[in-house]
Amino acid sequence: MSLLTSDISYPAEQQAYAERVKRIVCADGRIPKAQVVTYGCQQNVSDSQRLKGMLSLMGYEITENQEEADFIIFNTCAVREHAEDRVFGNVGATKKLKKENKNLLVAVCGCMAQQQSVADRFKESYPYVDIVFGTQVFHRLPEFIYKRLNSGRRVFELEIKNEKIVEGLPVDREDRFKGYIPIMYGCDNFCTYCIVPYVRGRERSRSAEVILKEAKQMVDSGYKEIMLLGQNVNSYGKGSSDGINFAKLLRRVNDIEGDFRIRFMTSHPKDCTEELLEAMRDCEKVERHLHLPFQSGNNRVLNSMNRRYTREKYLSLINSAREKMPDIAFTSDIIVGFPGETYEEFKDTLSLVNEVEFASLFTFIYSPRGGTPAAILPDPISRKEKGIWFDELLKAQDRIAKKLNNKAVGQVVRVLIEEAAPADGYLIGKSSGTLNIYVKGDESLIGTFKNVKIDSYSNVLYGTIIE
Ligand code: SF4
Repeated sequence: MSLLTSDISYPAEQQAYAERVKRIVCADGRIPKAQVVTYGCQQNVSDSQRLKGMLSLMGYEITENQEEADFIIFNTCAVREHAEDRVFGNVGATKKLKKENKNLLVAVCGCMAQQQSVADRFKESYPYVDIVFGTQVFHRLPEFIYKRLNSGRRVFELEIKNEKIVEGLPVDREDRFKGYIPIMYGCDNFCTYCIVPYVRGRERSRSAEVILKEAKQMVDSGYKEIMLLGQNVNSYGKGSSDGINFAKLLRRVNDIEGDFRIRFMTSHPKDCTEELLEAMRDCEKVERHLHLPFQSGNNRVLNSMNRRYTREKYLSLINSAREKMPDIAFTSDIIVGFPGETYEEFKDTLSLVNEVEFASLFTFIYSPRGGTPAAILPDPISRKEKGIWFDELLKAQDRIAKKLNNKAVGQVVRVLIEEAAPADGYLIGKSSGTLNIYVKGDESLIGTFKNVKIDSYSNVLYGTIIE
């Protein structure tokens, strides 16, 4: 565990609440335990690291064992409606635990909790849930726990004010050499299928000064990879007074001394600029990988999704990035079977996939998300039919991935050794693009950079460390 705090400190008021909670929960001399259950995207994983940091400040020790926890918090995701049932089920299971441990507190936060209908359901049907709070107040966790312990009343707090981001939260990063830095929160784009703008609020960027301090702290303490996170990193700094946009931020992070890599996620094609591609080209620490979700290759569907770019604009970005960085790898997100999409339109997605040759894809069959405009659009194509299209897409991508992997054989690439492989004696190293290469080596190499010659491809790439 490492606790990092940026120089602008966590609000004194919350620190005082944290002290008071600590006095209560540690009163009998034992160390209380807390479990943080995380659903969804990297943004949620990053938020959970801050929840764990705050819990540590309150005297809790983090546990993965729910049975021994004195505090359980569910950090939820709202992107997929059917996943919500799983959350209700898992929260429901704490009822039994509460019977066995009268001191157990249960909290729910995150995008799903931000929805009024969900919070109301917890209020009315889950009386054993103590605290429910939304995405913009999560820095107030100590206050919520204190209020619950002190007043005995349940706490429900869903305020969305789109105010300045509260800085200085303690962070508990589990990973020793790879870490996230959220650079902005929220989204202004209102893609018609997406709930994020409603549950995370408007785009708010952290100051470049705070991000750079956090990045430097991480590099100084040995981190080898920093992932800059946001729902739409390309619009970082929009409207900020210091004039630092995402391209400039990348250059500033790149200027930090040290041997490390910079990744970022997620980019929106409409905000991907030549300035950003040039910054990527010029910054040697920025990885040669661009995740640029295109969702559909058909302009009518893109318009219906409110994506605000065309197939032509997307392809021109890809071509421009390739001209500047011939070794760049692309990945993307695709929705198959958006309401009203025809097979002919889907074929435009397929042709775009074949044209770009993505290293990998995150593909989804459209599923409606209540509260979004797309959820009420006519959707005549059956799920079965969409499944056939989906399989066609997977087959195309499989063929492309094999082709790209075979092409990589013989290359020498610099990898970050990330983990032990399931196969005995192998480690997995990740290239600056998206290649995962199996190499023989001792686990002490995990977290180091090595040059690797790629020897062969058979389901996975195999290579040899050459220095
Ligand atoms: S850009 Fe679109 S898909 Fe991405 S978070 Fe914003 S609204 Fe959702």
